[in-house]
Amino acid sequence: MERREIEQLVRAHMGQKLEAEGKRAYIVAANWKMNMSAKETRAFLRELCDTKVPEYLDIIIFPPFPYLPDAQKMLRYETVTYGAQDVAEQDKGAYTGEVSAAMLADCGCSYVLAGHSERRAYYGETSDIVARKASKALEYGVVPVICIGETLEERRSGAYKEVLKGQIEAAAKVCKEKPAQCIIAYEPVWAIGTGVIPTIKEIEETHRYIHDVLAAGRDAGDCSRILYGGSVNANNVKEIASVPHVDGFLIGGAGLKVESFKNIIKQLSLDGCL
Ligand code: PEP
Repeated sequence: MERREIEQLVRAHMGQKLEAEGKRAYIVAANWKMNMSAKETRAFLRELCDTKVPEYLDIIIFPPFPYLPDAQKMLRYETVTYGAQDVAEQDKGAYTGEVSAAMLADCGCSYVLAGHSERRAYYGETSDIVARKASKALEYGVVPVICIGETLEERRSGAYKEVLKGQIEAAAKVCKEKPAQCIIAYEPVWAIGTGVIPTIKEIEETHRYIHDVLAAGRDAGDCSRILYGGSVNANNVKEIASVPHVDGFLIGGAGLKVESFKNIIKQLSLDGCL
């Protein structure tokens, strides 16, 4: 059995155990984007592995492709997991520069990001492309973290619910057989890397909306987990964690320095905070 499959079984079991205890499992994921060197990657992972992490936190690192083998080697016997930042929509063939889901599985990736707003904005990834990428990942046992989010104009004009609905429905088509194995990351584009975050009320209202769209026509509990992303740091993470339907975080800037990432973990580890 592959490490990823064992992890999935352990996580499913842990999820049930936590649920029985009235607790929730949280994901804390760092997307490094096109940052870090091999040396920085190793130093970060070494220090992270020495950090005490409570059982209800799943820590995921998304390094650039070239450092996946470092993660594979260093995290082999660790509870910290890792994934890639993108995946090809095709299986294999003449697609220069692309990386397939099978290759990610070979590198031991448990997760992959699909449709981060930077991919949507700079590389023209539509919701259909994102859905095909997520579907390919699932085929190879890699959990897709499907990113959705509205721009500032869409938020201001009030069109954001329609925009999110379109993105969610494209994702939901892929996840319908395996909702528990798909993760949605809600990242308002205007909050990414800006230091501006929605109000708690806005986060609550939007996560509830996403949950309701995902849950339509399903049994209660049969829903993908929903992460929040956008200018999360050690000062705001605890408050956001208490919002209903926030099941974890996708972190950019504050996940690049091991100290700030550890501070976020520390905030979420404080007794009684979750
Ligand atoms: C991101 O890019 O996914 C992100 C959430 O970035 P930041 O935390 O820096 O806003």
